[in-house]
Amino acid sequence: MAQSAYVRPWRCRCDKIRYQDEAAATRVAQSDPDRYGPHFSVYRCPGATCWHITTRGFHPRSLRTRNRIAAYYLARHQAVARWQLVEEMSIDTPSGQRKLGEIIAAFERAGLIRAVSHDVWTAVDRDGLRRIVSVGWDYYQQERAPAVEPAPPLVPPLGLVARLRRWLGRGRPRTPVSSR
Ligand SMILES: [Zn+2]
Repeated sequence: MAQSAYVRPWRCRCDKIRYQDEAAATRVAQSDPDRYGPHFSVYRCPGATCWHITTRGFHPRSLRTRNRIAAYYLARHQAVARWQLVEEMSIDTPSGQRKLGEIIAAFERAGLIRAVSHDVWTAVDRDGLRRIVSVGWDYYQQERAPAVEPAPPLVPPLGLVARLRRWLGRGRPRTPVSSR
């Protein structure tokens, strides 16, 4: 018991060894095949920003967040009904139901799943769902987001305005699109 007061900086609150990022965790697992074997997975800790290695795959209960659990079942089964997710996640409040509805709608918008009948969904992008199991929905969205580009100017550049004026003043452009 006295040991629990001792802080081990390399351990996460979930008691697993912490790695700074995915590459670091993967490197360690690959460098020690006797310990980790060929079927390890690395994942982002559901309760922290660090990464861990697992050799036993994922257990839905240890995934902790609803989006990861939903992704887990949707990736694993041919079709999943809302009541099954409700049961697996032990949802028993209206806010839990609402949250689940939001997750499903977000997954649909992202093209990960589609409805096959009322309140039943099937996976469209299983790799994407598996990635959510490993990294969580927020991180998944971040890594899928296009690179941030500088915001376009609100006012069109002057050169463009001038060209537009000339074009409008001239009526239809004289140069035909095809010369035949
Ligand atoms: Zn952890």
